Amino acid sequence: MRVLHTEEQLRQGVERMASEIAHAYGDRPLTIVSVLTGSVVLLADLIRMLEMPLRVGVIEASSYGGARTTRGELTVNAELLLDIRDRDVLLVDDIFDTGHTLVKVVEKVQELGAASVRTAVLLRKHGRQEVSAQPDFVGFEIPDEFVVGYGLDYDDHYRNLPYLGVLEQADLDRHHELFAASEKQ
Ligand code: 5GP
Ligand code: MG
Repeated sequence: MRVLHTEEQLRQGVERMASEIAHAYGDRPLTIVSVLTGSVVLLADLIRMLEMPLRVGVIEASSYGGARTTRGELTVNAELLLDIRDRDVLLVDDIFDTGHTLVKVVEKVQELGAASVRTAVLLRKHGRQEVSAQPDFVGFEIPDEFVVGYGLDYDDHYRNLPYLGVLEQADLDRHHELFAASEKQ
């Protein structure tokens, strides 16, 4: 798979983002809310680079329809979320593409009574945004290509890659070959 950012480059980008976050919040206690599932690798790395007192929660955003490019109906599930009333919340997500997901999740967190909401994303895809809101902290600006690894999936696979790769046609063919083969066994 073609590597867009190596493990080392990702670490440096996340470190830079962590120091921007630390600078913005100082010693104020923070509640970090991770948008499942793509942000869990970023979450694990980011929180270990932050030294202020913090709590961690999760929220789920999913779009029905499945296919990776088509837009389905977006739903936000806050059933697993810890109490965020009157807290300073930092939402953490994997990628800001059209931006619709993060806008929806921000609305939900505001509805639940957060004192403030800011957003941090590992990636922002160049030239794709359909909303006016922008993430407050961004790890990397990337070109308009489909990426996997470091938490990001294709068909729930590849989240465990330590680097960020571009999923090209040959990779897709190989994926479907492997997947078809395992279904036959
Ligand atoms: P948005 O609502 O900003 O368009 O997209 C949000 C979601 O689409 C992301 O959280 C992610 O799940 C998915 N997504 C968008 N672009 C990519 C990509 O290049 N790779 C992967 N794996 N997921 C993506
Ligand atoms: Mg996601």
